[in-house]
Order: sequence, then structure tokens, then C-alpha cells
Amino acid sequence: MIISMKLRSSKQEIEEVCQRIRDFGYKIHEIHGEERVVIAAVGVGDVTPCLDALEMMPQVDNAVRISAPYKFVSKEFRKEKTRIRVKGCEIGGDDFIMMAGPCSVESETQIMESAEAVASAGGKVLRGGAFKPRTSPYDFQGLELEGLKLLRKAGESTGLAVITEVMSDRDVELVAEYADILQIGARNMQNFALLKSLGKANRPVMLKRGLSSTIKELLMSAEYVVAHGNNDVMLCERGIRTFETITRNTCDIVAVPVLQEMTHLPVVLDPSHATGKRSLVPALTRAGVAIGADAVILETHPCPEKAWSDGAQSLTLGAFKTLMKELRPYIELWKERRYAESPVAV
Ligand code: PEP
Ligand code: MN
Repeated sequence: MIISMKLRSSKQEIEEVCQRIRDFGYKIHEIHGEERVVIAAVGVGDVTPCLDALEMMPQVDNAVRISAPYKFVSKEFRKEKTRIRVKGCEIGGDDFIMMAGPCSVESETQIMESAEAVASAGGKVLRGGAFKPRTSPYDFQGLELEGLKLLRKAGESTGLAVITEVMSDRDVELVAEYADILQIGARNMQNFALLKSLGKANRPVMLKRGLSSTIKELLMSAEYVVAHGNNDVMLCERGIRTFETITRNTCDIVAVPVLQEMTHLPVVLDPSHATGKRSLVPALTRAGVAIGADAVILETHPCPEKAWSDGAQSLTLGAFKTLMKELRPYIELWKERRYAESPVAV
């Protein structure tokens, strides 16, 4: 059950409601938003008597039953899509959003050149890793603070929003100071300490699907962030591990509409990590737009063969520009469909 308290309820009124819920044998979790307090009640058994009792309490605005284990992120809790506003663009809104940039920030020239190419081709968000999760401890681990500074500079000079990965709960505040969106990598999708600390971050979060995670596990991880106070979460399908080895990962493309059915959170597709091969990225990007992803995130590099990480899957800046042109008719169809599906269009 999710119980929304009336605006400006007092501490005592909230406690009375919490006690009533506990009396029915449920565990409670309070979320203090800017304007109102929402209480999640979790437990087993028929919730009807408890719901009836709560609805009679004057300080309760409404109480709803949510059968899914992920509560706040479920469509049952909220039918309208979550729109995440960052630096003049909206993810989950009326426009398809392209995010692009290098896997890792390597130098000022590299990130500035990348940012200018993203902005001039119509991208809205610049990606670039400053803290890199690498399989080998001997591989490049990222420029860390220097990388964050360069990203911010590139974002400021082009007007692009910046997304970058945060790998540890200790770095959330630091990364949030420099970036507009916090990326949680596939390897950290179930780093619960990190997820909890993101609940307190004042930045939107993009949560990538774990290498071997189910869609339900992805939603449960998103629930951690929202339950701890941050509603601005988007989900990213970046391919999962299967027996197939031709591609780096297997893109579970149907996860995009599946997630759109299950949650109100925006859905992003990452064709670069899903394929691991530059030649396959344009086709999968077109598919991502066609299937209704709210955004796509791509790796690009001024000189992919010299990239310090993920060069094989990075598009050249020229190929990125061509792809952006090729996407135009797909984006037009995307908009028509979005408009047809939006409640105001009925
Ligand atoms: C990345 O975006 O560069 C990255 C490491 O992605 P993932 O966590 O999906 O592997
Ligand atoms: Mn990468």
C-alpha cells in the first residue's frame, strides 16, 4: 500500500497514521518529499481492512493497494510518465533525447571536440566516464576529479547536460557537484549502499541494467532510489549476458516496451554496450527509436582507434552526424506515436 498524507500534515498526524498501519501488522517506510509525506506499507495478507481504516482518517489524502513488489516505480502507483528535466531538455517528455560522447574522458581536446560534435548534431546530453569500472585493474581507471572538471567545462561551453558514472556511495556528492545526471553502471545495479545514497542526491539518476539482471531486479533497484527520496530515475537497457558471443552483450530490445508497460520511469537504450561493435550501432539505434525508447545513449570518439576504452563500439564524430540525420524520419514517427499515446491527445 502507498499512503499519501494531506499537504502540511503535522508530525503527530503522520505518527498516528503510521501507528494505525503498524497495528495491522505492516512495516512502514516514510518518504518525506518537499510538500508531502508518503508512506509505503509492506506486508502480507489482505490489505482491505487496513485501507478502509486509513481512508477514514482525515489526515490521509489517499491510500492505494499496489500488488507489485516495486511500488513507487510501478504503473499502478503512477500512470503518467515521469518527465525528468535537465538543463532545458526533458527525458520522458515530448522529445526523443540523444545522449552521446566518449566512453572515458581522456583530455580537454578530446572532450571539447566530442561535446561540440554532439551539440551540433542535435544531441542534448554529453556522456563521458571519469570513474571507470574496468574488468582489469591494469586498465585505465578514469581521470576522476580532473575528468569531472573537464566534463563540466564541456557542458558549460556547449549548453549540453552532462551524464557520468558514479561508482561508490562515497563519491555521490562529488560527482553531483559536476554532473547533471548520475549514471549507475551495470556492475553496480545492485550496489545497495550506492542506491540508498542516490535517494538523497539532488540529481537525476540513470540506472543501467545489470549484466545478468532480470527486468524485475532492475525495477527493484530503481525502487531503492525512489524509496530513499529521489523520484528522478531513468532505466537503461544495455544488453545482458547470454551464450551468444558475436556481440559483446545480447540486446534485450523488448525490455524497452516491457519497461514502458511496467513503469512510469523513462527508458533509455544503449546500443554501444549492447553490441560492442560500431557497425551494429546505427541499426540498433534506429530500432531503439522505433520501439519507443525515451532516449538513446551512444559512445562516440574523435578517433576511436586511439580511444582509451571501448574504441571498437565508438562511432566516429562523422558517423554520429550521419546517424543523427538518418534518424530524423524515425524521430518524426516517434513524436507522432508519443502524441497519440499521450492522454492529452485523446
Ligand atoms: C559505460 O557506460 O561506459 C559503461 C561502463 O557501461 P555499463 O555499465 O553498461 O557496462
Ligand atoms: Mn563504455
